[in-house]
Amino acid sequence: MYSDILKIIPEDRVKANEEMKWHTSFQIGGPVDLMLFPGNCGELRELIKYCRGKSTAFFVFGLGSNLLVRDKGFRGVAIKTNGLNSYSIMGENIIAEAGVSLSELARIAADNSLSGLEFAEGIPGSLGGAVVMNAGAYDGEMKSVLLEVAAIDAKGNEKIFKSHEMKMGYRSSIFQEEDYIVASATIELQRGIMKEIKAKMEDFAIRRREKQPLDLPSAGSTFRRPEGFYVGPMLEKMGLKGFRIGGAEVSRKHAGFIVNAGNATASDVLKLIEYIRAKAQEQYGVNLQPEVRILGEE
Ligand SMILES: Cc1cc2nc3c(=O)[nH]c(=O)nc-3n(C[C@H](O)[C@H](O)[C@H](O)COP(=O)(O)OP(=O)(O)OC[C@H]3O[C@@H](n4cnc5c(N)ncnc54)[C@H](O)[C@@H]3O)c2cc1C
Repeated sequence: MYSDILKIIPEDRVKANEEMKWHTSFQIGGPVDLMLFPGNCGELRELIKYCRGKSTAFFVFGLGSNLLVRDKGFRGVAIKTNGLNSYSIMGENIIAEAGVSLSELARIAADNSLSGLEFAEGIPGSLGGAVVMNAGAYDGEMKSVLLEVAAIDAKGNEKIFKSHEMKMGYRSSIFQEEDYIVASATIELQRGIMKEIKAKMEDFAIRRREKQPLDLPSAGSTFRRPEGFYVGPMLEKMGLKGFRIGGAEVSRKHAGFIVNAGNATASDVLKLIEYIRAKAQEQYGVNLQPEVRILGEE
């Protein structure tokens, strides 16, 4: 297997037994057998074709900011997209590869007086992860700015999706439902006034710093928002702020976040998630669903 992979990418972009905790914002996660770092969309496509052809279990990830990988890790291949980092600006559109950081894209847009991506300031993921999750904040979401997405299907073929084909919903998309790998995307923006764009981004950044526990590792909001409730205030009313299992803690600053308060394991976080879910069901009749993507060996 190893030698076949080296026909696609060089040895210095292959890591064996790599701990996922070095690659997730939670700083949690056991080892993957192999971690691969493609440098462009062609290499990504070839690696996916290879894994599918050999029936090797694999997943693709970006900056690991919405990921909880179990402590035993993942038997198979993890493909990290951070090397897919080129972009170009064409008029009011930005075409970027999946590994470009979303906050970086928001800054590039602002520096070019392009408006529409202000909401992405401070979302710590990659463009690919943001497309798959239909990431959003404040007054915006990916759905409203995506013109086109180039994705790789189960056979390793590239397919172009137009905005109406992406089935974007609340933190969901066709790419998640049908297991497509996002290779690149075209973002459609409007010309705006740089000063106003930057002021809006600064306002969002201040609001994040005020409300979110950015000083501790986390994966953002732990749960999807259930209809009729806000998770943070609900958990706060339940007295769960600061509640801890092992190193995993319901943030004292924002109860909607679970934070790694010190050497938390995935098992700590999963136990805490189940505890919260049981309490929310008991006290509010609400069936909380994790927003964080959980994977790895049980
Ligand atoms: C402090 C903090 C604040 C956050 N605030 C927000 C917020 O305001 N709004 C919001 O929506 N989210 C927020 N998040 C969550 C997270 O940043 C987003 O979901 C982000 O879009 C995930 O991108 P990523 O590259 O880190 O994805 P990853 O965590 O790497 O992956 C997430 C999922 O997408 C899949 N995936 C990643 N890249 C690809 C690809 N190219 N093709 C196919 N599948 C892929 C992975 O397999 C996984 O299932 C926050 C997280 C943190 C830690």
